[in-house]
Amino acid sequence: MPALILDGTKIAQDIRGEVAAEVKTMAAAGVRPGLAVVLVGHNPASEIYVRGKVKACEEVGLYSEKLTPPETATTAELLALVEDLNRRDNIDGILVQLPLPAQVDAKRVLMAVDPAKDVDGFHPVNVGFLSTQRPGLVPCTPAGVIEILKRSNIPIAGREAVVVGRSDIVGKPAAMLLLNANATVTVCHSKTHDLPGVCRRAEILVAAIGRSGMITHDFVKPGATVIDVGMNTITDPAEFQRFFAGNAKREEAFRKKGSTLIGDVHPEVAAIAGALTPVPGGVGPLTIAMLMFNTVKAAKMRRGSRVPELSRV
Ligand code: NDP
Repeated sequence: MPALILDGTKIAQDIRGEVAAEVKTMAAAGVRPGLAVVLVGHNPASEIYVRGKVKACEEVGLYSEKLTPPETATTAELLALVEDLNRRDNIDGILVQLPLPAQVDAKRVLMAVDPAKDVDGFHPVNVGFLSTQRPGLVPCTPAGVIEILKRSNIPIAGREAVVVGRSDIVGKPAAMLLLNANATVTVCHSKTHDLPGVCRRAEILVAAIGRSGMITHDFVKPGATVIDVGMNTITDPAEFQRFFAGNAKREEAFRKKGSTLIGDVHPEVAAIAGALTPVPGGVGPLTIAMLMFNTVKAAKMRRGSRVPELSRV
């Protein structure tokens, strides 16, 4: 039986609806949560991401502000900007869009963000809260992974979970969240021996690698839930054929656009997995939804009020 396709777009819409309702309730109490997005220079991909984030804020009724220092900005200038945002009361969340230009000390800038406003959840204080199961701000993409599992009624407690990838942004926090939800967690990386064998133990397999279609059917235990975090762009027609030959809809889109998005999971896995997130339309939409959620959560936590019910992580 082909895998159940987990509809991330629908789940993200549900979350955005819940966030919008919460924003409305807060507005009645005279509070409008605000997100500041710092976009340095003119990275085209970053500009697209930031546009999406600002639009999503408008849709759920959040206040948003885009700050656009020039490509030549120095570490000191960005630190001053972040300090100013830290002080401002109408800003609850601060997001510094990565990557930053080479001359900037990105770690220092990220460390300068007030942990209470760190809606990306990257600050070591929030990393510490996550690993000690205290309330804090959780990185958006891994939080989205957990939302997909929980809202699809896929049990986590007591399950074997394998996460491929150990980045600070995705792999490690995803592993920590699964552990906090009582899974038995294995984290794999580029030095892992017998990666297919380790992955085949997984009842929940999370791929956060950044390699097109690397997770083939021999990595997957029949019936496993496979969460594909990867977002890779294919432009080479031969590579496209290797993954999508015979998929008429994709072929037409590829011909028109000259590129397609593929995850870290090979399409053939749909025939063996029990449930699978598609790319696009799986984890991706959750990232922005969880950013909206985190902004509301930060606004509530800063004011000492109860964190919205929506929080399942
Ligand atoms: P990183 O490059 O920071 O980390 C990749 C991880 O994969 C590393 O831990 C690396 O191991 C591991 N890895 C690389 N090659 C192999 C291999 N051959 N075998 C086993 N492990 C390997 O990437 P990110 O975590 O930032 O992102 C991962 C993917 O998720 C990317 O495709 C990215 O685009 C996507 N992404 C999607 C988001 C979304 O909204 N859906 C948001 C963020 C990311 P090692 O540590 O040993 O080098």
